[in-house]
Order: sequence, then C-alpha cells, then structure tokens
Amino acid sequence: MKGKLPDIQSFESSTPLVGTVLAVQANFYRVRLEKAKHFFLCTRRSRLKKIGQQVMVGDRVLVEEPDWADGRGAIAAVMPRQTQLDRPPVANAEQIFLVFALEEPTLDALQLSRFLVKAETIGLKVGLCLNKSDLVTTLTIQQWQQRLEEWGYQPLFLSIYNGTGLEQLREQLHQKISVFAGPSGVGKSSLINLLAPGTNLRVGAVTRKLGRGRHTTRHVELFELPKGGLLADTPGFNQPNLNCAPADLSLYFPEAKQRLATSSCQFSDCLHRDEPNCAVRGDWERYEHYLNFLEDAIAQQEALKQQPDAESSMKLKIKGSGKHQYEPKLATKKYRRRSRRSQHQALEELYQEAEEY
Ligand code: GDP
Ligand code: ZN
Repeated sequence: MKGKLPDIQSFESSTPLVGTVLAVQANFYRVRLEKAKHFFLCTRRSRLKKIGQQVMVGDRVLVEEPDWADGRGAIAAVMPRQTQLDRPPVANAEQIFLVFALEEPTLDALQLSRFLVKAETIGLKVGLCLNKSDLVTTLTIQQWQQRLEEWGYQPLFLSIYNGTGLEQLREQLHQKISVFAGPSGVGKSSLINLLAPGTNLRVGAVTRKLGRGRHTTRHVELFELPKGGLLADTPGFNQPNLNCAPADLSLYFPEAKQRLATSSCQFSDCLHRDEPNCAVRGDWERYEHYLNFLEDAIAQQEALKQQPDAESSMKLKIKGSGKHQYEPKLATKKYRRRSRRSQHQALEELYQEAEEY
C-alpha cells in the first residue's frame, strides 16, 4: 500500500507543488521540489502537449497528482521563463562562465577572445575562470589579471589542486542557474565535480566520446550546488564559430563598447576599419582581434548572400506514392535560424560546434 510520507504531508493538499526541472530523459522530467528536498519523476500533462508547451531543464513547474511514495507526478504548468537557450535547451540561465586554464593548455589570448566574444553574443552575464593557477607564477597571474581588466573582465583565478578561488566562484554561482563552457582539458569536469559533489563527471575524458553521450544536446542536465544554484555543463570544443553580423561585432567587445559610449563614429554604419573619424579604432590590445573576427564575420555574411536560390535549396524527397516532391533543405532552416538574432543563438552555435566535432 502506498502511504503518504509524514514529513511532507503539509505540501500535499492546498499548496501547489512548485519545482525545478533538473533533467529531461525521453518523456520524463526529473523535478526537484522547491520547499522539500524531494525529487519527482514527472510526465507532462497532455494539455501541455496539446498547446505545444515545451518543458526544459531550468523550468519552474507546477507538479500535480504527486505520488510521494513512488516519487511520481505530472507537470501541469510551466512558469514564464526569464531566459531561454534553445541548444542546449536550458530555461532561466542567468550567466555563462567560461573556463580556461593558464597552463596545460597554455592560455591563448586569441582563442580566449573568440570565446569571450561568442559568450557576449548570447546576452547573459559573462564570467571568466582561469584554472590551474598552481602551474604558473604570481607574476603571470598578475599580468593576466591586468590584461583582462583592460579587456573589460574580472577573471577568477582558480586551482582545483589547491582550492584557490573556489569560494569566490561559489559565491557567484549561489542560487543562480549558470552555464559552463570552455575548451577541453582545462579542468571543467574536475571543477563541476568539486562544486556539485555527486556529479561524477569523468575527469580527463576524451571529448569526442562524450560528445555522443551525456553531452549531446538531447540530454541536458543541471547539477545542483549544495547551498543552492544549478550548473549546466557544455561539451568541450576548441574554436567557436562567431556567427554575428559585422555591424554588431564591436558591441561584443567591452572596450569598444566603452569607446562608443563616450563618443561616436562619423558614419553610423562604421565598421571601425579605415573609416575617417572612427571612435573605436585605436590603441587597445584587442583591436587586432576585432579586425580578425570582423573579416570572418564579413566572409560569413558574403557566404550567406551566396545562398542557393529557392529551387536549388530544395531537396528531392521521394514520397511513398512514388511521386517526387520538393521540400526545403535543412540548410535553409539553419540559415534562417542563424539570421534571426536572438539570445540563444550563440549558445546554440557553441553546442553545434561540439556536436560536429
Ligand atoms: P575538462 O576536459 O575541461 O573537463 O578537464 P578535466 O577536468 O578532465 O581535467 C583535465 C586535466 O587537468 C586532468 O588531468 C586534471 O587532473 C587536470 N587539472 C584540473 N584542474 C587542475 C588544476 O587546478 N591544476 C592542475 N595542475 N591540473 C588540473
Ligand atoms: Zn568606427
């Protein structure tokens, strides 16, 4: 016989059960209740299916018909989302933390810059963790600190090995949903294992292998911090694609943004290359990176303009009847999706990169 558990009886009747979705597996949702450390494996109410209401990790949901003994329930409603990333599907994330190592692998300014710009395009708050500080001298740390401050960032220097910086990071993650991203080998799995004990990510695991398993975009999981807060992991990848309009690129460099806040360029469509009276061009370290990424952005824009015309962008699909019918190619959909500039686009790119890896 299924009895009600005494300690949680007070939640059962009048109080609506609110929880957060931590994992999605097939048609089941793992929900953690807000007011009791209790987990439910839930299905989604058919009414939600009918209205096309998707449920993603990070969603705050209303759980009905709780079966306390079996830990089963049904999701009856999804609360409005603060933010929404589509790939991976994560709701309500507040910040993205980039994790890099100072050594092993040696921190590469251009690669870091590329990740930073990519992260800025997502539209969430961007944090930066530099791990393996035990492998470098204090002078190296000071130099990076100063350099990154000039870029507009306040990096956290970490060492999993000796515990440096972990408390500060914990404070920044407290009670928030945060997304972690970074290249492989920097200590991201070690870090998540440490922050969220019980997670058991494989340290030193080969990214290629993970890319097809736990890390695929179809299976996203949030890891719980003991004192509150959730982490979403992203797979390792090495060179994120910067899919951004050339005209927008400068907005993703805090240094350039600051220059534009105090003065403006003569031309409103200035790309800050060799135009006269440009407020952005100048003596700042990452201006070279800006020009480098701008070339990519322009080349990408040109490539999009060269998209095949409507007919050739159709693929031939043979229907059961034996008749032929044209249907839009997947690439067109991808193109459309990329051209729609929204918050989740960039993270989607980060993941796509990893999936294609
Ligand atoms: P991931 O690929 O980013 O998930 O990195 P892993 O967590 O798998 O770690 C990669 C390697 O770096 C492992 O051999 C770890 O033991 C090592 N590592 C992680 N953190 C530190 C650190 O703070 N200092 C040093 N020296 N090595 C670390
Ligand atoms: Zn300009």
